[in-house]
Amino acid sequence: MALPVLAMTQSHPEIREAVRKLCEGFPGEYWRALDRERAYPTAFVQALTQAGFLSVLIPEEYGGSGLGLGAATAVLEEIHRSGCNGGACHAQMYTMGTILRHGSAEQKARYLPKIASGELRLQAFGVTEPTAGTDTTRISTFARREGDKYVVNGQKIWISRAEHSDLMVLLCRTTPREEAKKPSDGMSVLLVDMRDAVGKGLTIRPIRTMLNHATTELFFDNLEVPAENLIGQEGQGFRYIIDGMNAERILIASECIGDGRFFIDRASAYAGEREVFGRSIGQNQGVQFPIARAYVQLSAAALMVEKAAGMFDADEPCGTEANMAKMLASEASWAAADMCIQTHGGFGFAEEYDIERKFRETRLYQVAPISTNLILSHVATHVLGLPKSF
Ligand SMILES: Cc1cc2nc3c(=O)[nH]c(=O)nc-3n(C[C@H](O)[C@H](O)[C@H](O)COP(=O)(O)OP(=O)(O)OC[C@H]3O[C@@H](n4cnc5c(N)ncnc54)[C@H](O)[C@@H]3O)c2cc1C
Repeated sequence: MALPVLAMTQSHPEIREAVRKLCEGFPGEYWRALDRERAYPTAFVQALTQAGFLSVLIPEEYGGSGLGLGAATAVLEEIHRSGCNGGACHAQMYTMGTILRHGSAEQKARYLPKIASGELRLQAFGVTEPTAGTDTTRISTFARREGDKYVVNGQKIWISRAEHSDLMVLLCRTTPREEAKKPSDGMSVLLVDMRDAVGKGLTIRPIRTMLNHATTELFFDNLEVPAENLIGQEGQGFRYIIDGMNAERILIASECIGDGRFFIDRASAYAGEREVFGRSIGQNQGVQFPIARAYVQLSAAALMVEKAAGMFDADEPCGTEANMAKMLASEASWAAADMCIQTHGGFGFAEEYDIERKFRETRLYQVAPISTNLILSHVATHVLGLPKSF
């Protein structure tokens, strides 16, 4: 059962319709089989690529559709509302932004058209390290310049889709933290060609997690990367990565909105059909109010996502709005997930309903790509002027 949605969240109706149609070809059985095996949804990603949905943010001159973030959020929201999962490929949409904004003309011409066509997959984004955690300036993976190459040593964790990507945007130190002017200086971005790297200094080890997310641990042991693969200026990499984070947070927020709509659609339909004590369970306010509350919360979060995307597309600073959108949307989708399980009673736990799978999937987004506490800390210190705690 499709719910009425606020007019403001119905942007790009033709894109939404086309995405819904595509997703019909990938029903619950498809995702359940992959989930059991922790396998990658190759056919789904190929279909999205061929339809051009993963290149909406790439300018037309490089073969993309040159649309804004608003269009990209429509794509991801509809994927998630349909019960599919964009986590397998959302990075193909936005990771290229680092090359687009900070790469040389030669790098853009070389990579962007192939990323737009899907010939090259740029799905991996290597920032997190086991000992640094959220404190990115503490990363220690080091790229040492030797003539016309960098030699990389270190370790990354939670690097998703590394086994399903041709390229990776990698953040590493090129100056030790203690020798840099500021902790955020001295980090650089390298574009690593995974096809050359695996087995020649790069080892990928998959991590089995509570959801099917193709995430991995990476080990670098004297991996050689051509110096021409440096993006932008050496030492400025942290700034380039931060630049890409607003888009990532807004897009993840739109996935949460889609998840939330999935849960509300399913709960409303089930509450209307399921009869206990001789009447539909949805006739009880104890059942219908939680569904209505989830809808109210999700609608408010959707407005913040739309606001943040609009500011991003207007080139306005939107760090706070992107953070708030991600936090509100991830909390609203989680509340909707919990409500949906409760509405379904025991059936919420049955694999074949897809609710327990989506429940596990949507939980991630309160932790990654940035955890809720770090967002609250940003608002407390940057917006409200409260003292910094770290
Ligand atoms: C499935 C999955 C996929 C991922 N994919 C990628 C990827 O592709 N690329 C990538 O680079 N990373 C990826 N990540 C990493 C993700 O971005 C981090 O897990 C996330 O940012 C949190 O960092 P952490 O796990 O190191 O937690 P930590 O930094 O260790 O924090 C642990 C907890 O403590 C809290 N905390 C820490 N410091 C403070 C403080 N000062 N005040 C209050 N609370 C605090 C945090 O909010 C968090 O709840 C992925 C993670 C997962 C689980």
